[in-house]
Amino acid sequence: MTNKSALHKREDERYLLNYNRSLLGTKRKAMLVVFVVICIFMAWDFSFLGSSHPIITDVLLFRALLCFPTLVWLYYCSHSNSLVRHLDYWIGFTSFTIGLSILYNIYQYGRVGFDLRAEGLLLYTFLLYIVPGCRQKLKTLIGASICAVFVALAIEMDWPPEKLINSIVYLIIFNIAGSWHSRNDDTKTKTNYSNQLLLKRIAETDQLTGLYNRHGFDERLAALMERAESGKAMLAVIILDIDYFKAYNDNLGHLVGDRCLMEVSKGLQSLQESEDDIIVRFGGEEFLLVFYQANGDNEALNKRIEQVCPAIESLNISHPASVVSKYVTVSAGACLYEKGKHAERGELMLEADTALYKAKSSGRNQFVLATE
Ligand code: GH3
Ligand code: MG
Ligand code: MG
Repeated sequence: MTNKSALHKREDERYLLNYNRSLLGTKRKAMLVVFVVICIFMAWDFSFLGSSHPIITDVLLFRALLCFPTLVWLYYCSHSNSLVRHLDYWIGFTSFTIGLSILYNIYQYGRVGFDLRAEGLLLYTFLLYIVPGCRQKLKTLIGASICAVFVALAIEMDWPPEKLINSIVYLIIFNIAGSWHSRNDDTKTKTNYSNQLLLKRIAETDQLTGLYNRHGFDERLAALMERAESGKAMLAVIILDIDYFKAYNDNLGHLVGDRCLMEVSKGLQSLQESEDDIIVRFGGEEFLLVFYQANGDNEALNKRIEQVCPAIESLNISHPASVVSKYVTVSAGACLYEKGKHAERGELMLEADTALYKAKSSGRNQFVLATE
């Protein structure tokens, strides 16, 4: 799979997850409404047929057996963290079993000679397409299959052609209108999601370097600290500051200075080992790295921290006014996260910042670890 299609797939998965997790309250309300509608139909069956009619038990039993277990399961899925990921399919499945129960009743009523028309199915089709949480393709597939089974049943029950054609025409119109509505709805939902994502990305990204800015970083660091707190993972916060950058600007101009910031950003990005590492442009010529070591290997983490300053110097960006090197260098202050000690992000960053100050005053182009 190419990188682009893998990215596309990941974005689609994220969208689906968001789709399934959104509007849970509305989806649950819709389940209750459907439940109430089914109960009304059952009460109607009971009053219409009477308690001693030979098909009453069958009719009520099949309505209950086909509708209630799936509805209860659906309600449960909407509360389960793992099952909610596939809520759209469960909503589709429940809609399908409800459709089957209606077909079964039309069949039962037809067998004992009641002239039942397709109104029940029309109401079903209407509800199917306005119910939230299931996408157009699946809804259309369910609508079309229920419609096809209905036609087969009606033919089997020798419905007069006029009545049959009448029902088919209405069902087709309802399905097309429903499918069209649901397609528009899907497009609207997806556009809203993409716009929100875009706004979030813009708000969280530094325009010059494309790295995260402070907004994007806070939330992510908090999540990583939470994971480190409850597991064996280790993490380090490193604050970097380019050495003698004012002099660099004064010598070469701000545009070259900007280009230098972009190159340093790329150099920092090459140090990223997993999606959990965070790289942020923190301020003018200050950057912040978070190295997340999922396996808790302290030695490997320390090695990664040691590599930061040499990695920037080895970019070989000429610095005509630096006292410490011919190339652009950075000083760094690092702080390792310790369970129980660093409850707040601010504490970690303050320690890293103090270490950075020490790195500067000890001659620059070096890192200092906060615990030292
Ligand atoms: P030190 O080694 O002590 O860090 O010295 P320094 O000169 O790097 O530190 P100072 O804080 O005095 O200067 C930072 C400079 O970074 C000043 C400012 O002109 C420059 N700067 C900040 N943001 C940008 C930017 O977006 N583009 C450019 N070109 N320069 C920037
Ligand atoms: Mg600075
Ligand atoms: Mg500086």
